[in-house]
Amino acid sequence: MDVKYIPTTCPYCGTGCGFNLVVKDNKVIGTAPWHRNPINQGKVCPKGNYAHEFVNSPDRLTKPLIKKNGQFEEATWDEAYKLIASKLKSFKPDEVGFFSSARISNEENYLVAKFARAVVKTPHIDHCARLCHASTVAGLAAVFGSGAMTNSIGDIADSKCIFVIGSNTFEQHPLIGRNMVLAQQKGAKLIVADPRVTPTAKQADLYMPFYSGTDVQIFNGMMHQIIKNGWEDKEFIKNRTKDFDKLKALVMQDKYNLENTAKISGIPADRIATAAEWFAKADSACICYSMGITQHSTGVDNVKSIANLQMITGNLGRPGTGVNALRGQNNVQGACDMGCLPNVYSGYQQVINEEMQKKMKDAWGVDTIAEGKVGYTVTDMINVAADKPGTLKCLYIVGENPMLSDPDLHHVKKGFDNLDFVIVQDIFMTETAQEADVVLPGACYAEKDGTQSNTERRVQKWRKAQDPPGEAKLDWQIICDIAKAMGYEKQFSYKSAEEIFNEIRKVTPSYAGITYARLDKADAVHWPCPTVEHPGTPILHKEKFATGDGIGILTPIEFKYPAEVPDAEYPLILSTGRCLWQFHTGSMTRRSEDLEREAPTGWVEICPEDAKALGIVNGEMVRAVSRRGKVDITAKVTEDIKKGEVFIPFHFAECAANILTNNALDPIAKIPEYKACAVRIEKITGGN
Ligand code: SF4
Repeated sequence: MDVKYIPTTCPYCGTGCGFNLVVKDNKVIGTAPWHRNPINQGKVCPKGNYAHEFVNSPDRLTKPLIKKNGQFEEATWDEAYKLIASKLKSFKPDEVGFFSSARISNEENYLVAKFARAVVKTPHIDHCARLCHASTVAGLAAVFGSGAMTNSIGDIADSKCIFVIGSNTFEQHPLIGRNMVLAQQKGAKLIVADPRVTPTAKQADLYMPFYSGTDVQIFNGMMHQIIKNGWEDKEFIKNRTKDFDKLKALVMQDKYNLENTAKISGIPADRIATAAEWFAKADSACICYSMGITQHSTGVDNVKSIANLQMITGNLGRPGTGVNALRGQNNVQGACDMGCLPNVYSGYQQVINEEMQKKMKDAWGVDTIAEGKVGYTVTDMINVAADKPGTLKCLYIVGENPMLSDPDLHHVKKGFDNLDFVIVQDIFMTETAQEADVVLPGACYAEKDGTQSNTERRVQKWRKAQDPPGEAKLDWQIICDIAKAMGYEKQFSYKSAEEIFNEIRKVTPSYAGITYARLDKADAVHWPCPTVEHPGTPILHKEKFATGDGIGILTPIEFKYPAEVPDAEYPLILSTGRCLWQFHTGSMTRRSEDLEREAPTGWVEICPEDAKALGIVNGEMVRAVSRRGKVDITAKVTEDIKKGEVFIPFHFAECAANILTNNALDPIAKIPEYKACAVRIEKITGGN
């Protein structure tokens, strides 16, 4: 039997586990452990285990499609390219926006950014990091000078105290959760703060149930307690930070004492006191967080507060410490690194810096690249399309599904209806692809060589295991073909993913020392890695921060309530998130039989007391209503959620949580407040 095992990297969460794809007769038929993988040592979660199932789904897109009279018709690649090239040329550069993707490789993200800036000459390029960790990138860059996870995944197992907030790690990043358990087995304390008693919370040594959106109050309350007891790290504060006096003046106010923090957050005061003591007194303590922290109108404030806590306790730059922002998707870190953001080129080189503009123009062999302009974010693009018709006329969307993932879906649909021309490049006919004028069939992770960068800044390889189905093409080849059709033959004449990667290395200092040969030998390298001799950087900020003067900036942050709080009409707080078995908008997991069977549709979690008051029983179909829309959905009555809170997973189009969510944005990061909006739950009476 001719069976091959191809080592590659998981296409789901940001952990970036490795496994082998099992290939027979040029078809992927299964997964198998890759024992020497440095991240997961051969272990995977259910999504990784079944990551082969969607690859050869009969639903895969196999031919270009062009919409005529409201119906898609199959087309040749030449027809699709000609139409796209002529349309893109017909718009002013500022009228075109690009959504790049956490699903495609670094090489492909780099080319989408190059195509947007050098060919279409628009500054409007962004991707779904805007919806998950834009607050991390902005918040940490402001205080540390670098916006990425500071430590490594393996390092978590060496921590003496782990504080998890805004992350259901055991379901969303299970192989990172494994490192938390390994730490506990060595005596570490695990503190978990969450409005729900998640599987992660159940593993905690100390659980802190809190009301969504009260994060800053909790951090300030803990710092109040630490400073009051003299537990702060005075040496670290003196040598590595500035503005401690300003921070102290704020957090020592009575409004941040234990009693008031307990009242506002809903956490019993003794638990806040214990958490502060365990955390401050541990030899090494890290914070792991995810979208429960970032997806707020105060997302940047939340992230800066985490940085404050880590700096005043001296928990940075050492093993077992750190600000560990757990990235949601497999290559969301890489899409940021490659400059698929409206304000930076690859390696976070500012678009407003004239030296950087010249460097990129020279490297790309073009005269103009929309230089000097910071473009629209993903959220701006949807808002402008919906609210200022005619400003943005065309969107080119690669591997993203805003028609299910973005907040206030009725508003998103209005935006799409106002556009003149939409191009979607994907592997399945998603809810967003249905809105397109042209759909281009791309290739999935199992069909291409390339790299991705996981949450801990580790650059890893994808390796081709089978051909794309039908006439589907590699995503980088599609971008190159359209660029050539628009007259940019010379600038897009790549023969392989490695050739693109070598161009990335030339223009991106943090990737300069990483080569395909090194990745094959070492399996992975952490950026920054400036030279081929450099070993890579698993821990950031060891001696100094990446700020101009190397000093970390402590920032006094006042607590603010979420943009929408409960009232008589909408008395409950809705939070959204993922479950173990599904991933994001389900375009891949819902085509995986084994995963879909475990979680075939959505639900709303509500506590027994709230359910009883509404006369609702477990399993009953109810209506969730917000100021933006309503969703009929099954009630799951459970003790595992705090009174006053409800939770809906956002994977399911038939009961889409994002019909309800609020498009209120963080003013700096422009990230939506997915984690707190006001809703009511109604009984459905006959005929409604
Ligand atoms: Fe894939 Fe994440 Fe599961 Fe690892 S933990 S197997 S990367 S989904």
